[in-house]
Amino acid sequence: MYSNIKHYLQKELDSIKEAWLYKNERIIVSPQEAEIKLENGQTVLNFCANNYLWLSNHPELKKAAEEALKSHWYGMSSVRFICGTTDLHKKLEQKISEFFGTEDTILYAACFDANGWVFEPLLSAEDAIISDSLNHASIIDGVRLCKAQRYRYENANMEDLEAKLIEAKDARFKLIVTDGVFSMDWNIAPMDKIVELANKYDAMVMVDECHSAWVVWATGRGVTEYFNIRWQVEIITWTLWKAFGGAIWGFTTWKKEIIELLRQRSRPYLFSNSIPPVVAAAGIKVFDMMASTAELQDKLHQNTEYFVEKMKWLGFDIKSTASAICALMLYDAKLSQDFARELLDEWIYVIGFYYPVVPKEQARIRIQLSAAHEIHHLDKAISAFEKIWKKLWVI
Ligand SMILES: *Cc1c(COP(=O)(O)O)cnc(C)c1O
Repeated sequence: MYSNIKHYLQKELDSIKEAWLYKNERIIVSPQEAEIKLENGQTVLNFCANNYLWLSNHPELKKAAEEALKSHWYGMSSVRFICGTTDLHKKLEQKISEFFGTEDTILYAACFDANGWVFEPLLSAEDAIISDSLNHASIIDGVRLCKAQRYRYENANMEDLEAKLIEAKDARFKLIVTDGVFSMDWNIAPMDKIVELANKYDAMVMVDECHSAWVVWATGRGVTEYFNIRWQVEIITWTLWKAFGGAIWGFTTWKKEIIELLRQRSRPYLFSNSIPPVVAAAGIKVFDMMASTAELQDKLHQNTEYFVEKMKWLGFDIKSTASAICALMLYDAKLSQDFARELLDEWIYVIGFYYPVVPKEQARIRIQLSAAHEIHHLDKAISAFEKIWKKLWVI
């Protein structure tokens, strides 16, 4: 029985390889830092982690996790509503709501779950979801799981959004959904215009702050703060492992009726394990730290500006960014991989991104800056980019 499908699967795998779209995983044997050690003994500079604020290995977070390991032990072995809720889970949800000034918060094991199961419990066939074309895969899957009518507008294109809102005008409830920062590019969603259109056409707004939170700057509350429209959106989702250095977990926050219904109906919350207490404890610590200093954010922004300016000056096709993501556009899947491989020989760890992670013809190298980087790290990376560019160009 298996032999037929085995043959088919092998062919699929071969075609992925032939198209230069096959993904390999590199094995790291050290903590996630500016410099990381690979299995082959090579030490490389890391420019592809979401460790924006250098918190993955922060002593205060490790300490909070260690303490929780002693007080609450390792795993919960239960979903939230059976026996998977501790004082730490509740405290963390409360911290998040206080931080955002929102009414309530629900934790998930990952933001993929938060986005995957935010729509289905709230909306049905009479309703409409209007989604940005570059939204994260988890939002796209969440929309697919829901019976609501689907509309897709071109990335950050407000004319197109308005056209879709007009098309969807007869829907009972309308929800516009967007990433705050588009993770494969550099651009920020125009939230001021989005809420204006939402008001005009009586729609709700949901924003995924995974890449914007604590990075897009005012006090770290993401694009809703950047545009000062936090009170005009109904749903915010977030992951805690990007800027926050978290091990794993995500959440949905804002209107209390929405959160309450999600606790009753959202399937990963009902049928999947709750996060380990050690992770919740470190999360609580993160929010305490956020309140006390902006040092790491300042360093992140200085690093990003420095890197982008220098790369532009060298003539690279790289865009300015208000986030910590720089996309070096190469437009060719194979070139993006060759480039990244050559850079690794220069001790620089970046990844080429290509279809299906980004659209075809849009292959690139994504460079992620961090507060963990020092200027000498950046200089080393910049000269390696220059060297490889010349080398590949000559070939
Ligand atoms: C990373 C990311 C997610 C998924 O977050 P997890 O917590 O890893 O599941 C969702 N949305 C966006 C925009 C992301 O960048």
